[in-house]
Amino acid sequence: MENINKRTFAAELNSSMVGKQVTIAGWLEDLRDIGKIGFASIRDMTGTLQALVSDETLSIAKEIPRQSTLIIQGKVQNSRAKNVKVEIKVTKLLLVGKALHPLPIDPTGRVESSLDKRLDSRALDLRNPCVSSIFKTKSKVLQTIRNVLVSKKFIEVHTPKIIGSATEGGANLFSFDYFKRTGYLAQSPQLFKEQLVLGLERIFEIGPYFRAEPSHTGRHLSEFVSVDFEAAYLEYYDIMDIVEELISKVIKNVSEATHYQSFANGYNRIDGKIPRISYQQCLGELSSVGDKLEFGDDLSDASLKKLGEIYPGFYFILDWPTKLKPFYILEQEQNPEISKSFDLQYGYLELVSGGRREHNFDILRSKLVTQGLNPDLFSDHLKTFEWGMPIHSGCGLGLDRLMMVLTGTNNIRETVLYPRDTERLNP
Ligand code: ATP
Ligand code: MG
Repeated sequence: MENINKRTFAAELNSSMVGKQVTIAGWLEDLRDIGKIGFASIRDMTGTLQALVSDETLSIAKEIPRQSTLIIQGKVQNSRAKNVKVEIKVTKLLLVGKALHPLPIDPTGRVESSLDKRLDSRALDLRNPCVSSIFKTKSKVLQTIRNVLVSKKFIEVHTPKIIGSATEGGANLFSFDYFKRTGYLAQSPQLFKEQLVLGLERIFEIGPYFRAEPSHTGRHLSEFVSVDFEAAYLEYYDIMDIVEELISKVIKNVSEATHYQSFANGYNRIDGKIPRISYQQCLGELSSVGDKLEFGDDLSDASLKKLGEIYPGFYFILDWPTKLKPFYILEQEQNPEISKSFDLQYGYLELVSGGRREHNFDILRSKLVTQGLNPDLFSDHLKTFEWGMPIHSGCGLGLDRLMMVLTGTNNIRETVLYPRDTERLNP
């Protein structure tokens, strides 16, 4: 059909177009046949519209299975239906892609399917507006994050995902045969990020990372997207300020988007500052609800659940014990047992980890040894600390986890198009 590239989208139709000839493309969601005429409900990426079919177009429409894609041409006219302003009186109707029934799931959502079944048919699942709105929102979130960081002089970069040695040590790496050597999939861009502040000063990366943790939780995947940024001459408090601004702008922009309204109010709005609670204070709070921890104990899932009940929204946990943090995190001058570090939480859920980094070559080297890592394996990284490394801080924000908060789900698989976990490798 001619002019399909100049198609009109469902959301663009309005009363000022009455009498105009338009070309529409989309999929057939429903057809109400009431004798001589029928009302087809057609959906595209922007919404649904009503198309009036009669005579020949009605007989063609009656043969088209639901969810098939079609192109129609016709005139815009006022509609008599109560909740529809304008409709298309169809003059031409072309079936483009036939949907073969029975379909594996019902993308209108009228018949519910398990998440597993939906993920097996993800492409079709995305025809459900509640599902597609998650990914439209994700795109908006990314756009907002990029705008904020670029406005603060951060440069977007890409670091390799195929690496030759273990980033932070750790047994959580996927390894594979790389031209007769062992290659690994990056678990984070941490070391590259730090090296890059040497010449670029402020950088950010949005990319996939890989962890070979056999987790069976609603918040861990083997492949996830992280928003990482790192800046020379900023303290960890400054990074927390940027995180706070990112979260508040994301919430503002996302709440204004119309497709967002289909979500339950999944998050607590933040008015101004996000509370900042020290690790030590958390121990106090936990102790008052009967969870007695010693300084240096990690916060287990059970402890985080309890903390989440006390602080159900966003909050920072800062100044973690040094021994709980990776080798590259800097210690406090007054007390080396405490590090210059923070996590952003939403209730029980960790969203961000960040901190000030060690920039002194000798100390960094000895911290590797203290943590049982072999400095020789880090020589490519360590050498950059002898080339005039500035002081620096940064963080990593789990994008898919942030989407869990924004969409009000407890399962990260809902927020990732094709999630990868211990069970799922396809599609
Ligand atoms: P957790 O303790 O929840 O396993 P972590 O402390 O191991 O997370 P970091 O190494 O601090 O994670 O990574 C930074 C951020 O990346 C986390 O705060 C989280 O938002 C996200 N993230 C980490 N691991 C995963 C994962 N397996 N799946 C999804 N997101 C993840
Ligand atoms: Mg962390």
